[in-house]
Amino acid sequence: MITYIYGYPRLGSKREYKFLIEKFWKKVISQKELIDELSSLEEKNRNECTKFIDKVVEGEMTFYSEILDTAILFGILNPKNLEEYYEFCRGKNALEMKKWFNTNYHYLVVDFNKLDKFELKNNLDNIALIFKKKAKFPSFIGPYTFLKLSKGLDINSFKKYLFDMIEILNGIISKYDEVHIEEPAFVFEVSQDEVKLIKEAYSKLDKGRKVYLVSYYDSVDFIDVLYDLPFYGLGFDFIRGEENLEFILKNKFPKDKVLIAGVVDGRNIWKTNLKNVLEILIKLKNITENIFISNAAPLYHLPISIFYEEGIPQDIKRCICFAKERLEELKNIKKLTLKEDIFDDNCDLEKIIDKYKNEEVKNRVKNLSPNDFIKQVSYRDRREIQKNILNLPIFPTTTIGSFPQSEEVRSKRNEYINGKISYDDYEKFIFNQIDKLIEYQESLGLDVLVHGEFERTDMVEFFAFKMNGFLTTKNGWVLSYGTRVYRPPIIYADVSRKGPMTINEITYAQSKTKKPVKGMLTGPVTILAWSFNREDIPIYEVAYQIALALKEEIEDYEKNGIKIVQVDEPAFREKAPIKKRKWDEYFEWAIKAFNLATNTKPETQIHTHMCYSEFSEIIKYINLLDFDVITIESSRSKGEIINAFKNINFEKQIGIGVWDIHSPSNIDKKEVFQIVERVLNVVPYTNIWLNPDCGLKTRRWEEINQPLQTIIEVANVLRKKFKDT
Ligand code: GLN
Ligand code: ZN
Repeated sequence: MITYIYGYPRLGSKREYKFLIEKFWKKVISQKELIDELSSLEEKNRNECTKFIDKVVEGEMTFYSEILDTAILFGILNPKNLEEYYEFCRGKNALEMKKWFNTNYHYLVVDFNKLDKFELKNNLDNIALIFKKKAKFPSFIGPYTFLKLSKGLDINSFKKYLFDMIEILNGIISKYDEVHIEEPAFVFEVSQDEVKLIKEAYSKLDKGRKVYLVSYYDSVDFIDVLYDLPFYGLGFDFIRGEENLEFILKNKFPKDKVLIAGVVDGRNIWKTNLKNVLEILIKLKNITENIFISNAAPLYHLPISIFYEEGIPQDIKRCICFAKERLEELKNIKKLTLKEDIFDDNCDLEKIIDKYKNEEVKNRVKNLSPNDFIKQVSYRDRREIQKNILNLPIFPTTTIGSFPQSEEVRSKRNEYINGKISYDDYEKFIFNQIDKLIEYQESLGLDVLVHGEFERTDMVEFFAFKMNGFLTTKNGWVLSYGTRVYRPPIIYADVSRKGPMTINEITYAQSKTKKPVKGMLTGPVTILAWSFNREDIPIYEVAYQIALALKEEIEDYEKNGIKIVQVDEPAFREKAPIKKRKWDEYFEWAIKAFNLATNTKPETQIHTHMCYSEFSEIIKYINLLDFDVITIESSRSKGEIINAFKNINFEKQIGIGVWDIHSPSNIDKKEVFQIVERVLNVVPYTNIWLNPDCGLKTRRWEEINQPLQTIIEVANVLRKKFKDT
């Protein structure tokens, strides 16, 4: 049995990838230096892999994004140098960014409507593809996935491009003995027509090459079709695609192909149950002799290694595998199949679970009744109650939470984390920031204020620090997009609050103003989506545990005179399963978790916030969340999202994003009015709020004044206009 690996994290154990590219952006290093340095980083990563693994896919290094590289490979985009390449990634003319399948990784979306004229061609010589060019066993994103994730294609051009691209691909792969092609979009619910199309197009693939075709993240619904296509090997996810395994065990596997069995998890961090895998492999061996054992999804969703991580209890650490440890696992699985001894490091998950369990939390979840998920006071009645308490003008204005995280804020936080300043000093500093921000918001004339989130590293890790059942890492970085990294916390036990989590800052902010300050929380689904989760209990139980902790926090707000609470759920769409047939099951618990967390006093106005996803497809589920106000990103589509609300009889309040906060430029009053105009077609004017698309933490202070002022000016004009109606 051969071990096979793809998608090892390119980041580097010291985040070299990030720092190198950022140095290039700051013109500290040249293009040549960047290429050389990234090449040696890639080589280092590969050496790490070949220590354990027989076959390691190459050429996976990218200067930014695999999808962008694919557009370049086929000549759709054609940057002359890396400066031009990065113009597609950042700045004014950057391509739109989207979540990659149901992960927190992103890709750049190619919009065919917005492209200059191009001619499809083999463009492997482009400087951006230098890593693929010199690889012996290169990796490519397949044309179907590329086209499926692109925008602006009608059926005919989709079809034409697919065929053309396969032909070009034949030219590209003719230079190699073997190649690795990834088609994760094969796990979508592909229509019969498209299956036919895939079959026709890929049947033209050069039979003379060894092409390993790999799918991941879920099961493929048309495996039998792949059996007939000229692939040398077929890779499937056996962790998140159980149906794959079932299908293969039932329907056999072609003798002339290699089965690449994805048996170690690329998306979560718990040690693989080697015995289970061995059993699976024994079953598969009855079906085919040609098995490679592999990761079940790219390993770049995992941090590099748990080995150097300090501060994690030994017994838990033994049960955690990051990317490098997954390599060791694959090697061990191979040894087991050869009946060789392996070193077993005694991970006893059951013992850990028992040791860290919290009976009280478990019981609270067990004893939840249907009423815990349903508010006793209807939205309409709540609206009346809240109206009298809040006394807001029509077209209220607010922001989404965070304000610019200046260098000063970040360095103070680091000083505190590194023990250079005391908590008291740190808190004083944060309070000082809050003072200034409250003053600033009042001077602007915003109606509902925020405290600015200066104390938060990121919106999930911050809460993980404050709850039992979570571990956080020092170096467990994972790429989110480009050079942006984050450290997902690990949920390993029952979740509860250690104490109040945000009350101090919010009540302090509220003490400085008569206007309402929003309490600011991250919702249960988003906390789950951006953490590594335990697997010993159903996911909904973990979600309800988190929800109960958040609910306690909201109750503390209420005791302290906070009248509005925002529960952010930007990952509400992302966490949904890839297959729509599994949506009802997911949304049922996701909605219940949100409603459980926010099932507090009717006097408290509950806001939620969502951004940067395709919301129209999940609008009926959003409507089942029992908030009072939703603020939603909408400026990039110029308010188009509002059409989705038309279909559901939406009766609650909506804050429409009128400023794309990813763009540093000023906003145009006319455009803001246009967005409002569109919303007014669907929503009564009494239900409309005005706000930016999202939090402002990535902007600089100089960049936020004009847009915020414009929003307030627009609100004032609208108030005059609608006063007498
Ligand atoms: N309240 C958060 C902020 O303003 C929301 C961030 C998000 O939607 N991702 O930063
Ligand atoms: Zn947002």
